[in-house]
Amino acid sequence: MRKLTGIGLGPGDPEMVTLKALKALRQADVIYYPATYSKTGTVQSFSLEILQQLDITTECRRLIIPMTDRNQDEIYRKVYQTIMESLNEGKEVAVVNEGDVLFYSTFGYLLKMAKADDVECCVISGIPAFIAAGSLGDIPLVERNSGLNLIARPKSFEQISERLQGSPDDTLVVMKMKVLNGWYNFLIECSRPFLYVEKAGTTDEFVTSNVEDLKDREIPYFSVIMFYSGTMVEG
Ligand code: SAH
Repeated sequence: MRKLTGIGLGPGDPEMVTLKALKALRQADVIYYPATYSKTGTVQSFSLEILQQLDITTECRRLIIPMTDRNQDEIYRKVYQTIMESLNEGKEVAVVNEGDVLFYSTFGYLLKMAKADDVECCVISGIPAFIAAGSLGDIPLVERNSGLNLIARPKSFEQISERLQGSPDDTLVVMKMKVLNGWYNFLIECSRPFLYVEKAGTTDEFVTSNVEDLKDREIPYFSVIMFYSGTMVEG
């Protein structure tokens, strides 16, 4: 029986990997982790950095997944074939990624393909980055009657403004915020209180609610911003 397990590794802190995930990582015959090439040609993998801090001896293999919107189907099809080869050798295969495994993740695509091929699939959720980031704030991420809105890879600051104005009592989370330039100016104009978190759960973690801290800051891929409703902040 071919068995594929998707495992969320949490936001970056190895202590935020669940016991269930750790057990499954130890049990697997092979662990595949997503990686990309940097501009200078080196291989980068946030997931591997987490794996390396865990007490596991399972073989880890990388899956190169370019960060692009182009040819995505083709990229995932190739990745899936690689995993299929291991599954067809009778191996128990784990695929990991940071955060949760079905929340803006590679595994979401693989799961659909594996299900269509009648592969037995198992999903072990991880702590999503925005939840870990939210816990670094001084107030709850959401409470009482407020809702939660989320944008990943925002198209423009207008899109964010519209969401904020359209739902003044809700919290808005923006992920993949690096795609936009000009956050400092936007935050100055926007009157909503915010929490910006970079690389939550790592030794490079950076947290601020002060717009001046972002004046000349380069926004990395692993950053998220949360806008609270004004009423929540006032209490
Ligand atoms: N599966 C992940 C999300 C992957 S999409 C999850 O469940 O959280 C990648 C985006 O998630 C990044 O652009 C960033 O917005 C956010 N992210 C992931 N890890 C993060 C971290 N450690 N700190 C801050 N943001 C993070």
